[in-house]
Amino acid sequence: MTIKINSMLRRLIILSIAALVAAQPLQAQEVKNIIYLIGDGMGLASVSMMQLENNYEPTIFDRATNVALQKTYSLDNRVTDSAASGTALATGTKTNNAMLGITPEGYAPQTLMELAAERGKATGLVVTTYLQHATPAAFYAHVRSRHEYAAIAEQLLHSDIDIAIGGGMAFFDERYGSREEAVKAIHDNGFRLYDSIDMAEGGSRSLIILADKEIEERTGYLATATAKAIQHLEEEDDGFVLMVEGSIIDGMGHGNDAEGQQGEMCDFMGAIEVAVAFAETHPGTLVVVTADHETGGLTIVSNDADFNLAEQGVEYRWTTKGHSGTMVPIYLYGTGAELINGVMENSELGAKLKELISH
Ligand SMILES: [Zn+2]
Repeated sequence: MTIKINSMLRRLIILSIAALVAAQPLQAQEVKNIIYLIGDGMGLASVSMMQLENNYEPTIFDRATNVALQKTYSLDNRVTDSAASGTALATGTKTNNAMLGITPEGYAPQTLMELAAERGKATGLVVTTYLQHATPAAFYAHVRSRHEYAAIAEQLLHSDIDIAIGGGMAFFDERYGSREEAVKAIHDNGFRLYDSIDMAEGGSRSLIILADKEIEERTGYLATATAKAIQHLEEEDDGFVLMVEGSIIDGMGHGNDAEGQQGEMCDFMGAIEVAVAFAETHPGTLVVVTADHETGGLTIVSNDADFNLAEQGVEYRWTTKGHSGTMVPIYLYGTGAELINGVMENSELGAKLKELISH
């Protein structure tokens, strides 16, 4: 009898200590804000190119405190497009190429932004392309084809998104028949409309539309726009979720333009710097940097096959004008960075981020 009580007591003590130890890191790890940065078409070679161009001085990618890998294939294709991969990253559910926020059976999974809004968090989007383009649209729209731009524009106005910065005024005009009607619809849905980042004030839903479609002129744009969006979103006490897309990295991959892609990567890295600086000063912020797929099949090859000789330079070589099916990296910073690990499906990353803001 005595022995039994002793062993029960010992077990109780061990359990209480275990519970105490477990409770500490769990509390410290609570993710309040997520900044999700997606380099459209950014493969591991794009990142390696920037490290090489930076003479291997640490880049923002090298400062990640954790890394993982994701498989990008879609439900109907081993090489994904941005609609299917955007849907996986935004909702945790894989779908067919060209479909946005909807499965072939017609199921519309909740997006990370919809869930965040439900949890009282503010939500935002920052892109270099138009806001109705596949990657941002995956976070608020549910349509069978990514090319239904007018319908997507309307769904943005009906969404709970608090701030969106990018191009795409042309698709509001198309949906509502004229610029005048488009502006009226934007206001009627509770948004203030701006055509400059500087003009935007905090305190209300804001649409900052800088171009009819893509934003052409934009040195340092992504960093400025990301800082603006964070400043707007952090007014919300319950936290926020912000998606930032380096949209044209993909276009440079399609064009097999290494120098052009370096410029787009610099712009994107500026936004990552802003996000990581915020996370460092605001505990509870998780920064996730990834891609939706690789574009161009970029490789970095030696000009000299004989590795016993001195290096004769390297070459950026492209192997396709389309997308490729290679895995893409995930870089993690800030609170909860250690919670995302290993080799995963793109949909698993989306599901994990939803889980992190679910409690
Ligand atoms: Zn593409």
